[in-house]
This record gives sequence, structure tokens and C-alpha cells, in this order.
Amino acid sequence: MDYSFCELCPNLCRVDRTGGQVGRCGQTNEIKVAWSGLHRGEEPPITGEHGSGMVFFCGCPLHCQYCQNYQISQAGWDGVTLTEQELSTLMLELQAFGAASINLVTGTHYIPSIASAIRDAKARGLTLPIVWNSSGYESVEALKLVDPLIDLYLLDVKTLDHKVASEFCGLSRYADAIVPVMKFLKRRHPSTDLENGLKGTLVRHLVFPGCLDATVDFLHWYADNFKDCTLLSLMVQFVPPKDDPGFSKMTKEEYNMLLDLVDRLGIDGFVQEMDENEILWIPDFRRDQPFPESFADPLPYFLDIKNSTLL
Ligand code: SF4
Repeated sequence: MDYSFCELCPNLCRVDRTGGQVGRCGQTNEIKVAWSGLHRGEEPPITGEHGSGMVFFCGCPLHCQYCQNYQISQAGWDGVTLTEQELSTLMLELQAFGAASINLVTGTHYIPSIASAIRDAKARGLTLPIVWNSSGYESVEALKLVDPLIDLYLLDVKTLDHKVASEFCGLSRYADAIVPVMKFLKRRHPSTDLENGLKGTLVRHLVFPGCLDATVDFLHWYADNFKDCTLLSLMVQFVPPKDDPGFSKMTKEEYNMLLDLVDRLGIDGFVQEMDENEILWIPDFRRDQPFPESFADPLPYFLDIKNSTLL
């Protein structure tokens, strides 16, 4: 793979990231982490008793207008720079802190470094399951670098509709790019189990406002191709961007129609309640604790590095 012509995601930016240039993801090859700690907002088997060990990476190859992590994905909050060795140590510290899993959020543009750090952490005693938590907007060739180290994929499948992808993800080609990724994961991980350890693929699909037809199409495609090897987490709580309250909320009738369809298609997994976590928040990653305290505990090792480098 030639990193001066970055092939980590389908954007294929002509940049030299090792030389300090940035592509659409907004990041060079330097690993930037916005926050790390235990988080209890994931699906129950991933959260465990004390929380999933989150590592939120800065930057993102997609530019979703509704992104709850906009501050770190697009707005340029750079977080803390870590070496591969420090990222490896951070994973071990999360394990010692009581994490149920290592949960790597949007690491697409750091895949080679993350793979090295996981390998190093495993050699030093990391035994927790590794969760790859991403938009799915990555190249299959890049995924092959990290796949042997991943236990569970928490993979967004946002839409298969070009118009919806363009409106909500900022790139119509997302609708095409997600298909080979799903096929690759099906080949590599033909079954999913969240009861006995973590293994396989949990597909996350968020219903976009006014786009029910696209979700119905997605559910049929998913049932036809992936329901036997993955689980589905259907999310219905769209958080509108702060400056745009104009999105309509899903009605109870629409919600019930989706529940019926999921049932009829024989899809297994999780469906978010309409009024679950009614208080929806946008995390502020400039704070040591970006989340409500009942949901998260910052990792002291991360805060030590943050405080020593950002002061
Ligand atoms: S990871 Fe970043 S630099 Fe590489 S192709 Fe994707 S957006 Fe471009």
C-alpha cells in the first residue's frame, strides 16, 4: 500500500500524510485521541459491568451533518497526540481500569498505527476483546491490516441510497462503498455472538428523518444478505444538528411499522426505544468528562497525558 496516495478509505486522497499533509479526514499520520475512558452507553454485552474502554480518535473521512462528535470529527478539535507505544499502553490501562472491551471509535485513518499498537498491547498482556467501531467507510485493503486483531465490528450501515448518503453523510458514494465492506466481513466473520465473549459484526443503522423508505430498503437488503451472520442494532433517535431544529421526529406509527417489519423479516438484535435516553447530549471533548457522569469515567492515564501536553 502506498501511503503517499492514501488508500485507507474510498476517498483515495492524493496526500503524503507521513509528510504532514492531511486528506479529507483532516489528519496526518500522527495519532490524535480526543478522549479515552469507560463508557456505559453501548449495547449491554459491549458495556459489561463497568463500561466499554473507549478510544475516540480525532478526524473522520466522512462529513456527516448530524454527527454527534462533530467537534472532533470535523471541527478541528485535535485532542492529544499519542505515539503507537502510548496507544498500546492506553489499552492496557483501560483493561486495568475495569473495561469490558477495547472500543476503537473511528480509527479508519490510523489503521496501520492502530494495528501495531494492538499487536504490542497483546504482547504485553492485553486480553480484552477488541471492538472496531466505525462508519464502515473504509477500504477492504485497509481493513485486512487490522481485521486479524478485531473480535467485534460495530459497523454503521447508514444507507444504500445515494441521495440520502449525499444529504446526510456528505458523500453519495458511501452508498456503494459500504457494500464490499459488508461482503468482506461476511466472508471473514460468518457468525456473530455477543453472549460468549464478543465476536462477529453488529450492524448499526440509524433512521434518518424523512427517509423511512431508505430504511425499509436497507432492512430488506440486510435480511436477504446478512441476517444469518450478523446482528442488527436499529437506532431511531436522530439528534438534529444544533443549528438546524427543522428535522421532523419519527411518529409512533412509523416506529411500529419498522418494528413489525424487523419482526416479519426475522431480523435479530436490538431496537432502540423511541423515548430511551430522552436526554440526548452532544459531548464536549474539550472537557475531561465530555459525557454525563453516570455514563462515563475518564481514564486517568489519558488525562495525565492530556494535562501534560495541552497545558
Ligand atoms: S483516510 Fe483520510 S487521507 Fe486517507 S483516503 Fe481517507 S480521507 Fe483521504
